[in-house]
Amino acid sequence: MSSKAHTALVELREDLDGEVFAPWDPGYDEARAVFNARVDRRPAVIARCAHAADVVRAVRFGRDLDLSIAVRGGGHSVGGMGTNDSGLVVDLRRMRRVSVDPASEAVRVEGGATTGLLDRATQPYGLATTGARDSGTGVAGFVLGGGSGWLERSCGLAADNLLGVELVTANGDRIHASADENPELFWALHGGGGNFGVATALTLKLYEVPEFSLALLLYLPEHAREAIRTYREVIDHAPLEASGAVVCRSGPPAGFAAPSLAAGGPLCCVLLTYAGPEEDLRKLAQPLLALPHASQTVVAMPYADAQRLFDQPPGLRAHGSAECLSGAPDGFVDVCCALADSLPTATGTRNMLFPLGGAVADAPADHPVPYRDAAWVVHPCGSWADPADDERCTAWVRDVRAAVRPWSTGAVHPDFVGDEGRDRVRAGLGPRNMWRLGVVKRRFDPDNVFRFNHNIKPV
Ligand SMILES: Cc1cc2nc3c(=O)[nH]c(=O)nc-3n(C[C@H](O)[C@H](O)[C@H](O)COP(=O)(O)OP(=O)(O)OC[C@H]3O[C@@H](n4cnc5c(N)ncnc54)[C@H](O)[C@@H]3O)c2cc1C
Repeated sequence: MSSKAHTALVELREDLDGEVFAPWDPGYDEARAVFNARVDRRPAVIARCAHAADVVRAVRFGRDLDLSIAVRGGGHSVGGMGTNDSGLVVDLRRMRRVSVDPASEAVRVEGGATTGLLDRATQPYGLATTGARDSGTGVAGFVLGGGSGWLERSCGLAADNLLGVELVTANGDRIHASADENPELFWALHGGGGNFGVATALTLKLYEVPEFSLALLLYLPEHAREAIRTYREVIDHAPLEASGAVVCRSGPPAGFAAPSLAAGGPLCCVLLTYAGPEEDLRKLAQPLLALPHASQTVVAMPYADAQRLFDQPPGLRAHGSAECLSGAPDGFVDVCCALADSLPTATGTRNMLFPLGGAVADAPADHPVPYRDAAWVVHPCGSWADPADDERCTAWVRDVRAAVRPWSTGAVHPDFVGDEGRDRVRAGLGPRNMWRLGVVKRRFDPDNVFRFNHNIKPV
C-alpha cells in the first residue's frame, strides 16, 4: 500500500462513525462474505457506514484513491455484485432503519435494510408492499432491480411502488430523486439497479394486507404434470391477490417434510399464496386439494411470517438464472416434468415457475422493466455445500434455460440472474431503454464508478 493510501485509510478510520476493515483487520473475513459462498472476493477496504454522511466520506475516499467501488446491501446478489477484488466496498449493513408512516401508507427504508426488517416494521399496521421471497435479501438491491414477490399481481413490482430515493452520487453529492425531483434519474432507478449511486434510503408505497394465507401441496412425480396444469388453471381464474409458485425440487422444503416422502426424491411443490383469509384460499385451492398429494398445509399467518418460510441459509454455494415466458402451455409443462427427472440429486437445486399478470402487466409501460407482458417466469436455481457439485448444478440451470427457450419472450428479470453478459443486461433493461439509461448514467456517473451491477455504460 502506498503512503498516500495508508494516510487516506487512517483518516477514513478516524472520520467514519461506522467501521473500516482492511485485509489485516479482525472481522475482515466475516465482513467480505456474501450470501453465495462461490463468491470469494478480497476487497482492499470495506467501509461499513453508519449513516449517509459516512457513505459520502467513503465514496470520496474511493474516488481519491481511484478504487473501484461496489455497494453491498443484503449481499444476496447471486453473482456477488455487492463486492469486488482489490477495490472499495461501501457496506450498508448498519444502515437498516425502517420508519413506517401509516397515515400516508408509506415506508422509509435505509439502504442496507433487509426484506425481513421491512416486513416486520409494516406488519403491526396491517400494511405491506411487494417484497422478495427471502427475508435476508436487501430491500434496495431488490427494489432498484425491479423486485418480484408474492404481492406483485395485486400491488405491482417493487419498483412500481418507489416514491423516492435518497442517493449519494459518484461525486459524493447527496441528492433526492422522485417524480418531482430529478425525474429522469427517478425513472432510471425503476430497474436500473445501483448504476447511478448509493441509495442511502428509499421510500415505498404500502398497501393494506391485514390477512395472508397459503396452501403448500407436495405431489409425487407421477402427479406433477396434472398438478402444474391445475395450478395454471387456478391462477388463470383467481383474483390478483393470489400468487405463488410451482417448485420442482429434490425433497420437500425445510420444515415441510412428510414421513411418507423419501428424503431426496423428486417432488413437485405447489404453493398458492393469497393476500386474504384462509377460508377463501381453501376454495381457490380446491382443485389442487382434489388431486392425489403426498402432503398438504393450508394455513393463515401474518404476511411477515410467510415471507420467512422459505428462507435460504447463507454460506452455501449458489447459482440461478431465469427466463420470462409468454405462457405455460401443456408442452412446456411436459418439458418441466422431464427436467425434474434430471434434477441434480442431494442438492438444493430446483426449478421455480412464478405467475405474473395483473398489476405487473398494468403498470406504466415505460419503466426500464421490459417483462411486463410475460405471463410466467421460470427461475432455475439452487444452493449446495460441496464445490464438487458446482458443475452439475450450474449445467442443470443452463439446461433448463435452453429447454424453455421456445416459450421465452427474450426478456429477463435482472434480480434473478448474476453476470450473464451484455446481451442479458439489454434483455433485462429493454433494448429500447438502454440509450436513455446511458444518458442518465453519463450525467450521474460518467466514469462508471458504480459498475458492480447489471452495468449500463455512460452514453
Ligand atoms: C435466496 C434469494 C432469494 C431471492 N428472492 C428474490 C425474489 O423473490 N424476488 C426478486 O426479485 N429477487 C430475489 N432475489 C434476488 C435479489 O433481489 C437481488 O439479487 C438483489 O439485487 C439483492 O440485493 P442485496 O442488497 O441483497 O444484494 P447485494 O449483493 O448487496 O447487492 C446487489 C446489487 O444491488 C446493488 N445495491 C444493493 N444495495 C444498494 C444500495 N443501497 N444502493 C445502490 N445499489 C445497491 C449492489 O451494488 C449490487 O449491484 C433473491 C436472491 C436470493 C439469493
